[in-house]
Amino acid sequence: MSRELIVVMREEALPQEVEAVLERIRLDGFQLHTTMVGERLLISVLAEGDSAQLEQMLPQMDGVVRALPVQSPYKLVAKEASDRPSAVPIGPTALIGDGHFGVIAGPCAVEDPDQLFAAARAVREAGAVAMRGGAYKPRSSPYSFQGLGPEGLRLLAEAKARTGLAIVTEVLDPRHVEAVSAVADVLQVGARNMQNFALLREVGQGSRPVMLKRGMNATYEEWLMAAEYILASGNPNVMLCERGVRSFETYTRNLFDVAAIPAVHELSHLPVIADPSHGSGRWRMVEPLALAAVAAGADGLLVEVHPNPARALSDGAQSLTPDHFSRLMTAVTALRRALIGQETIAPKA
Ligand code: PEP
Ligand code: MN
Repeated sequence: MSRELIVVMREEALPQEVEAVLERIRLDGFQLHTTMVGERLLISVLAEGDSAQLEQMLPQMDGVVRALPVQSPYKLVAKEASDRPSAVPIGPTALIGDGHFGVIAGPCAVEDPDQLFAAARAVREAGAVAMRGGAYKPRSSPYSFQGLGPEGLRLLAEAKARTGLAIVTEVLDPRHVEAVSAVADVLQVGARNMQNFALLREVGQGSRPVMLKRGMNATYEEWLMAAEYILASGNPNVMLCERGVRSFETYTRNLFDVAAIPAVHELSHLPVIADPSHGSGRWRMVEPLALAAVAAGADGLLVEVHPNPARALSDGAQSLTPDHFSRLMTAVTALRRALIGQETIAPKA
């Protein structure tokens, strides 16, 4: 019988304490894998055979916070792997997660300088922590606008220099991770690439935080396993993004799964943000879904905003005008104020 254990080391564990723990695990001939999650070393152990003695021994060793069997197939992203919810850096000063809330907003795609800079100004004025905009777009048709590529990245860098906003942008191809990381503060892995394992490993080996969108037909477990790839490759800074799943309904573009938010908080220490724009495909539904997500405990929002949605090259029907976005921000702020300090029976994030 095999059993998987996770050993959580203290942040201040000494190198010799870590070495002693690794030695003890190797003594039983078990395979192990180490990862840093924040400042903390996690050791996952695949115990093939009797692990009773090891399980008794490990919690008593110096430098160990706890050692516990993890039943779920994901280990590093599992709730048990951390004492507290993770907070992911968004640019040099902001965080999302562990009580830090943030809104990322901007156009679906970078189209031209005027469009991008107008969107950047608008979302900054309304209080977004970061701006979004795709330079590389995953499109269903090869004949649709595919994004401006390197020119789009250049414009994003300029928008960042002008406004000071952090940049969140999608990376589609493992070969582009380095170039996109030179501009992006957070790399977006899109719904269609949630199980692109080569891409997950590549962003996992990089240094930029990752926003991992839920695949359009992914279960929570598949989504968390995709996040596990990134952490197992060495990058602890992952936030999840619920963007709706496929359903039989045709009125909305996707079925926005509000239950995913408390579910992720039950299963994982990673932050989860909500994307009501792709979740509905209809701009009038963005605010009500955003408020539902906030009420359900979302750590942040991803919202599409375009200075002139009617002329957008992609996703105009779900994009808010700057004016509507500013009203959404007011409503979100009011709801959060009303919720803070309320005792609920929901599990704490
Ligand atoms: C996007 O954010 O513009 C996008 C393409 O999203 P998704 O991957 O969720 O479809
Ligand atoms: Mn879009």
